[in-house]
Parts: sequence; C-alpha cells; structure tokens
Amino acid sequence: MAKEQGVTPQSQDFSEWYIDVIQKAELVDYGPVRGTMVMRPYGYALWENLQRELDRMIKETGHENAYFPLFIPMSFLQKEAEHVEGFAPELAVVTHAGGEELEEPLAVRPTSETVIGYMWSKWISSWRDLPVLMNQWANVVRWEKRPRPFLRTTEFLWQEGHTAHATREEAEEETRRMLGVYAQLARDYAAIPVWEGMKTEKEKFAGAVYTTTIEAMMRDGKALQAGTSHFLGQNFARAFEITFQDQDLEEKYVWTTSWGLSTRMIGAIIMAHGDDQGLILPPRLAPIQVVVVPIYRKNTREVVLEAARELVREIRAAGVRVHLDDRDQYSPGYKFNEWELKGVPLRIEIGPRDVEAGHAVLKSRLGGEKEFIGLRDLPGLLPERLEGFHRALYERALAFREAGVRRVDDYDAFKAQVERGFAAAFHCGEAVCEKAIQEETKATTRLIPFDFPEEEGVCVRCGRPSAYGKRVLFAKAY
Ligand code: AMP
Repeated sequence: MAKEQGVTPQSQDFSEWYIDVIQKAELVDYGPVRGTMVMRPYGYALWENLQRELDRMIKETGHENAYFPLFIPMSFLQKEAEHVEGFAPELAVVTHAGGEELEEPLAVRPTSETVIGYMWSKWISSWRDLPVLMNQWANVVRWEKRPRPFLRTTEFLWQEGHTAHATREEAEEETRRMLGVYAQLARDYAAIPVWEGMKTEKEKFAGAVYTTTIEAMMRDGKALQAGTSHFLGQNFARAFEITFQDQDLEEKYVWTTSWGLSTRMIGAIIMAHGDDQGLILPPRLAPIQVVVVPIYRKNTREVVLEAARELVREIRAAGVRVHLDDRDQYSPGYKFNEWELKGVPLRIEIGPRDVEAGHAVLKSRLGGEKEFIGLRDLPGLLPERLEGFHRALYERALAFREAGVRRVDDYDAFKAQVERGFAAAFHCGEAVCEKAIQEETKATTRLIPFDFPEEEGVCVRCGRPSAYGKRVLFAKAY
C-alpha cells in the first residue's frame, strides 16, 4: 500500500499541518525521549546546506571555529547570577558517571559562555590577545517544557559565536554585525524577510546587557525568533576574571558578545513558506533543487530513462542539485505529490513524446503554467530559474508579512490584531505591564525594530508614556 500523502490543510489546523509536513516529508521524527528529535537524511541535508553557508559567513567575518566540552561544572553556571537563574529550570545535570556519584554535578551545556569564559581567563592577558573571535558548532541541551520539533527541542544543534574585545564599542559593533549576518542568511538563503532589533529587558538572554534578535512571521501570523546576538558587557568577564593589560598598562575586564542560530531556523523555513501541499524550500538551501520525473510504460521505459539520465548529467554539470526519480514502483502522479510535499522548487517531466519532440516539461513548486523547454536549453536555463524562484519566494513572504502587521493604538484593536498577525504599538517598558499583556492576550514583545521611525506615544495598555521612542512589535510567538 502506498504511504498516505495528504497533510492537514493550514487553515484547518496550522499545528497539525506542521507536524504532518515535517513527518511526511521525512525531515524528522520524534526520538524515544520526550522533546528529542531525530533528523532524517532529508532534514539533515537541509541543515547541512544552511550550516555550510552560515559557516562561510562566520569565517568571512573573521571568526575561527573551536570546540569546548559538553560537560560544564555546576559551579561555573552559578558564577553569573542572572545566567544561572535563567538557565536553572532548563538544565540537565549529570550526577552519576562511571558507576559512582560525582563529587561535583556536571551540567550538560545549555550554552557555553561559562566554560569559554573560564578558558579565556587563561588565554587572554594582554591587549595584544584581543579581539578573540570564536565560533563553535555543537549540540546543546535545554529541558524545554513545551517541546516542538525544530522550534524547541531539548537537544538542538546550533552554532554559538563568542567574542572578547578591548572596548565596549567594539563589542557592540560585533553584536550588530553578527545579527546582520543572521538577517542576511535569512533573506539571501532562507528567502525569509526578518526584522532586526532589540529585545526588551524581560525577553533578553539571561546574563546579557541586551539582546538583539531577528524575528520572522510564520504563515499563521505568529512570530518566530530565528537568531539572537547578545551584548554581554563585562558580566561574564567579571564572573570569570577575564582581564587584560591594556596599552595604558591598566588591568581591565574584556567586553564579550555571544550569538546563536539553531536548527529552529529550519522551522522558520517550513512555516514561512509552506502551503497545503507541503514544504516549499528556498532553492539555495534545498537538498534537491530540481527533480526529474520520467513518464513511461514498459515499452518506452528505456528510451525515456536514457534521455532523462542524459538530461540529469547535464543539469548536474550546470551546478544544480538534481535528482532523478526512476523508481518503477510508484506512478508519476504519486511522485509529483511526494516532491511537492518535500518542497522541491522545480520539477521536470519527460515522457516518450517529449523525447521525440526534443523537449521536457518544467513546473514550479510556486505554481504557474507548465512550460515546454528544449532539452538543449534546459540545463543552462535552470540556475537563473532557481534564482527567480528565490526572489519570488522572498517577495511572497514579504507581501504576506506586510499584510500581517498593523499599527494599533488601542487595546481592543491590539487584541484583535495579535489574533491574526503582528501589532506595532507603543509600550511603557514596565515589565509588569508587559507581563499583563502576555497574560491577557498571549502576545509578547518580539522586538524593538532598529528601522522603525522615532515616534512618541502612550502605552497601548496602560497609557503611560512610551519607553522606547518608537513602536514595539508584539505577536504571539513559537
Ligand atoms: P539563546 O542562546 O537563548 O539566545 O538561543 C540562541 C538561539 O537558539 C535562539 O535565537 C533560538 O532561535 C535558538 N533556540 C533557543 N532554544 C532553542 C530550543 N530549545 N530549540 C531550538 N532552538 C532554540
């Protein structure tokens, strides 16, 4: 019996749709331990493509990769007060190993500021050692209460960048630069428009002076924080005694930053682009950019497959990630559905009459007419078609986002707006008021966008003067 191919329509139940898609498209499956996920080859290939691009961008901005241990002494986490308070509820702690109770419990890293700070205190002694620009690709563990594949898993894959600088200005510049890299990754590779801005005090990273974020809108109008870059000030430098002798011979604390982007980004890709047929993958990251589906009967099989194989060779030579679906046991219709579900940007169909006529049929996952294109022209044409697909996908997401955000100045309108999308509203900046909004509407402050114009107003909920000199974006979030 053929596998069931259909997914729950988005309009019926977006959460069900998400779970259907990730499983049926064979991106991931649930692991045996609650909150864990198994990344299957198709999902992992997508992560590898994203990782390759981000790794390149991280290196191009001067950072080097390193690797620090998974186990962190509990006492390290306790050195920075806010940090331990923020992470304590999510820690997984090893108390036994080698058949014995450990003298000191070990945290499984939830993030690595502490262990890196400890090592840096040994490595950094002079202004000549600065800046230190490092990145680590790793798995981390945070015991999440409401896990969801990709979005919030107890173990996830990410990169965490960590840098140390001689001056505050330099560290703040770095914080912004790396947020910019994340925004570029989102736009230029994931085809997702993002807002860049500051988190409020309530939403910042535990231990940071401030947190900057990129936020994206999903197709149900909810927000997803897709990457964060933190200015840590001298908090970790003080906790771990990371000092250096400056050019003026004075002993000073370094200024540090950290920034992370995780497998959650794949969740963003799924929910920013997908439709009722399944995934729609951005071509620059798609494991398969073009699929070729040969259409034949017994007596035409050889001639069609021969032409399809030749075509695939030429497409591959043009630098395109192409796959030939020559499985005899499935019908072309079944294959079309499967590759649509898996979000492959372009499909080529080729049957006996096409071979005779010297052309093939090209179909985009974004819809539109089928096109007949000469077999000779097709391979050379595909790279620009994929670029066009990327642009169209980005524009589609941008149009959706623009339709989903509204300026609101009254609380009833605010409540209605966060049911369908983002609300741009003034806020007083008081944590109590922010919490009340969350309780009353389930919406949280997502960010204070850098590019919002300066504007004065009064808090949408309590009427006190706005704290930020501009509007804040609120939304329900994943
Ligand atoms: P943070 O160190 O908390 O700023 O996290 C860095 C990035 O990792 C965030 O911007 C999230 O996108 C992502 N992230 C945080 N927690 C999880 C989780 N449980 N599962 C997947 N991604 C996560």
